[in-house]
Amino acid sequence: MPKLHYSLLLIFCASVAISGGETNQAARGALPLPPQKPAPLPDEQLLIQRTYETILPLDEKGFQRLPPPKPGEWLAHYREEPQSLERYKMRATIRPSPDRRTIVLQPLGTFDNEGTQILQLMKEYAEIFFQLPARVEPALAWDESIPKLTRQLPVSRRVGRYSKQYDGETIMDSFLKQRVPTDAAVYLGITLEDLCTSDTNYVFGVASFKDRVGIYSLARYFPEFWGLPRVEDSTTKALRRACKVLNHETGHMFGVSHCVFFRCSMNGSNTLEETDRAPAHFCPLCQRKLMWNIGYNPLKRFKELQTFYAKNKLDDEAEWMTQRIENWKKIEEQERIKAVTDE
Ligand SMILES: [Zn+2]
Ligand SMILES: [Zn+2]
Repeated sequence: MPKLHYSLLLIFCASVAISGGETNQAARGALPLPPQKPAPLPDEQLLIQRTYETILPLDEKGFQRLPPPKPGEWLAHYREEPQSLERYKMRATIRPSPDRRTIVLQPLGTFDNEGTQILQLMKEYAEIFFQLPARVEPALAWDESIPKLTRQLPVSRRVGRYSKQYDGETIMDSFLKQRVPTDAAVYLGITLEDLCTSDTNYVFGVASFKDRVGIYSLARYFPEFWGLPRVEDSTTKALRRACKVLNHETGHMFGVSHCVFFRCSMNGSNTLEETDRAPAHFCPLCQRKLMWNIGYNPLKRFKELQTFYAKNKLDDEAEWMTQRIENWKKIEEQERIKAVTDE
């Protein structure tokens, strides 16, 4: 059974491959999902309901409350404690400080031209999404002398150049934890190789809150991994997925749990298809957590996100953000009027 849990210290995201539309997945040694979990407890349902009530109708416009999960989806199999804003404030242990506020991206292994370009865009996106400085460090080569770092995939699961996987947890322990730059709010290893842990068949990412480090793989975001041909929007699709994994994993690093309230980039995900179905944006609640933690100007952030999406042909996201900006201006106007009236 894959170890896949949420704790204060370590989190695995999207690590179980199940059979389905994703080409080759079933044939590639997929592990079974854990049994279905029971529905949320009554007190959890109450907390979810009460949390909805704290969100202004205008703020909720354009978002979708999370429907009950379908079989195979993350929430059908994993219990997630609903994290209200109050609970978040109690557990957000990583917060940027004046001398420790940079999101540092650490390439691991070789990056081709396309990978390098996506990495640069991820840095740009991190700066905008989290409104914090970001930089890309020079790439670190793998040290394959470390036992446990790699494992050979069974022949039945090999595709193209992917004959082996790297152990994300070992890389965090043996590479990343010792190298956290002093100015790093979070230090994030990124690789084009496929990742796993000792008891999962793959992971998109692993993060350790305590150590402010995480690692994630972009391997599965490209059609080559699945033995599929390139299509016109393959690079755009890979960039969209890379942006989602960046905001999701970095969101975890800043203490945001998997979202059980709305369709949101912080939703847990069992498969690439589930990741693709999730939006790139944070819901009103997860966004409020970030705002509280980082203290940015939301309207400035939305405008910069809209520009980034439009510039990089992420058209649906750009259009969605245009509407979000309009709604947010109305919210600010309402609050301004309320403040004047309350005086
Ligand atoms: Zn996650
Ligand atoms: Zn959310």
